[in-house]
Amino acid sequence: MSCKVGIMGGTFDPIHYGHLLAAEECRRSLKLDRIVFIPTGNPPHKDAGRLTSAEDRYAMTLLATAGVPEFSVSRTEVDRARPSHTVDTLKEFIERGIDSRDLYFITGLDALLSIATWKDYMQIPSLCTIVTATRPGYSLAEVESLPVEIRGKLKLVEIPQFAISSTEIRSRARESRGIRFLVPRLVESYIESCGLYRDVEVPQS
Ligand code: ATP
Ligand code: MG
Repeated sequence: MSCKVGIMGGTFDPIHYGHLLAAEECRRSLKLDRIVFIPTGNPPHKDAGRLTSAEDRYAMTLLATAGVPEFSVSRTEVDRARPSHTVDTLKEFIERGIDSRDLYFITGLDALLSIATWKDYMQIPSLCTIVTATRPGYSLAEVESLPVEIRGKLKLVEIPQFAISSTEIRSRARESRGIRFLVPRLVESYIESCGLYRDVEVPQS
């Protein structure tokens, strides 16, 4: 019997309810059996030197998904020495035996609209179905400008709009403005007990 797997990549610095809601809504909409969250190791699109360590981001992603049977977290990009690219991660899942017809790559709309900057992005439609959740501030109309091959493998999922980002959470944590109800309770405690985001200038994404 086939098992439909959604994979959701992200920096998750930190993971927040926008990520969890997007994953859950896409899971329900496409009837996916499970979702694998994949925190980036050394992301090619961000200034890695200013990021929270991969281990801290991985730990927070584990805490956020603990107790949700359909959700799991992969170390594949955290453990990779070289920079992580979506196309490599998709190929790795296929090599491990998942049929590309059962593989769904979940993004928010902002990420989808930058797909033309990703390594070998034209290979992506042959490797998976792309599932994109709406995100406040990003227009669905812009999807029309994407290559037809991408649009042909795209499923758009309209989700309740949750206008939060990790950038905003880092900024609130640094300024002691409170992050309760924006991230799961265990993630909030982890950020507080490890003193994350306190003293650093907040990197803009
Ligand atoms: P940052 O502000 O650091 O860029 P972020 O909140 O955008 O953080 P990422 O780790 O960059 O989080 O995003 C991972 C994935 O989650 C991306 O595909 C992104 O589009 C999606 N995503 C993040 N926040 C939301 C949200 N509020 N609604 C829908 N999708 C989201
Ligand atoms: Mg982002």
